[in-house]
Amino acid sequence: MSSVSSVPSVSSVSSVPSVSSVSSSPAGASTAPGFPAGLSAARSSAFRQALAEVVADQGEVRFDEPMFRHTTLRIGGPADIWVAPRSIACLQAVLSRCCASAVPCCVVGAGSNLLVRDGGIRGVVVSSEGLRGLRFLPGPDELPGSMQVFVEAGVSTGKLLSEATRRDLGGVEFLGGVPGSVGGGLVMNAGTYLGEFKDVTTQVRSLRPDGSQVLRSHAECGFVYRGSALPRDEVIVEGQLLLRPRPRAAIEADVRALRERRKAREPHGVPNAGSFFKNPAGDFAGRLIEACGLKGTRIGSAEVATAHANWIVNVASQVADPSTQPSLDEAEPPRSGRTLVPGSARDTLQLIEHVRSAVLSRFGIALELEVRLLGEDAP
Ligand SMILES: Cc1cc2nc3c(=O)[nH]c(=O)nc-3n(C[C@H](O)[C@H](O)[C@H](O)COP(=O)(O)OP(=O)(O)OC[C@H]3O[C@@H](n4cnc5c(N)ncnc54)[C@H](O)[C@@H]3O)c2cc1C
Repeated sequence: MSSVSSVPSVSSVSSVPSVSSVSSSPAGASTAPGFPAGLSAARSSAFRQALAEVVADQGEVRFDEPMFRHTTLRIGGPADIWVAPRSIACLQAVLSRCCASAVPCCVVGAGSNLLVRDGGIRGVVVSSEGLRGLRFLPGPDELPGSMQVFVEAGVSTGKLLSEATRRDLGGVEFLGGVPGSVGGGLVMNAGTYLGEFKDVTTQVRSLRPDGSQVLRSHAECGFVYRGSALPRDEVIVEGQLLLRPRPRAAIEADVRALRERRKAREPHGVPNAGSFFKNPAGDFAGRLIEACGLKGTRIGSAEVATAHANWIVNVASQVADPSTQPSLDEAEPPRSGRTLVPGSARDTLQLIEHVRSAVLSRFGIALELEVRLLGEDAP
């Protein structure tokens, strides 16, 4: 069995002692004139120092952190403050501190469904990546062999699938090839033709903006196709799932078939965020976009993928001269060995509008974005 940190009660918010893992990025400007108080605070040295002290050795804090490092699309300007707490108690303390100073917070998981604008994100970006607890406990007596899974928000969907498979537990086969974190998966009700989070989730634990906890039942989560009613201003910290016993060979066969199907249909080797638009009722966004003849359409660094019309991919590495572009991340060179360069949210948003208006004028259907937008335009 995997170990897990137990979920602390609200009262266990730690008052954390000393400073630690602050990145070497400069703290930047002091209070910026003309900003609302909370936004100014996020840029002030005093608030940055205070937040670093709150986090101490319970997580990581970075300042003016480029968000293209945290999105699979490799697009996004800097977040004033990026923080990745390693415990729920630390996350509670971070939220309480931000709330007290009226500093706005938003949350990201693995960034696989995100388009962050070029101007970046004002305030604090909370990353769930440090919340990695995963616990399996026996399920109810009436479902022999079943297990309840308590999985923290930062656990990857791949880890959840592999740990369930290792225990001969079925129910999350639908995650084969779906990237992301469990927190993002719950918010998005991520899924495939094999199922979605809605099918296995019994409860979701979140933190409100002031750091207090709330536990929601399945019905209260309001899961719908690629979405949920989970409030946008809360941070999901843990999902509780119910998985049933299933022969491992059957699980593996389903996952293999799903992965092969995806491999044959999806673009590879280019930064992307999966499907950009939700499928309209009774149809497929990809079919509509392809029928408009838009496959391969490019605006700057954004392209409607030739392999799948519902995927808009970042082709900045192909259209730019890499020697004149900033490296994606010197500390984490791209695995491919090629120099990847950040793409442009502006180009991507223009292409989105181009696709939407073409589909609207030809079919009278207004495509809805599946990818979530964060941040502000570059000045
Ligand atoms: C190659 C590829 C294939 C994909 N295939 C599929 C697919 O088959 N099916 C599918 O459904 N999706 C698919 N996606 C989209 C994506 O993987 C899912 O939407 C995934 O669940 C997003 O999780 P994430 O952790 O990356 O969330 P993020 O992209 O980081 O965030 C998505 C949204 O959730 C919010 N959020 C994230 N974590 C939390 C949290 N802890 N608390 C509160 N809010 C939070 C964010 O604010 C944002 O609004 C694909 C993406 C890629 C890149």
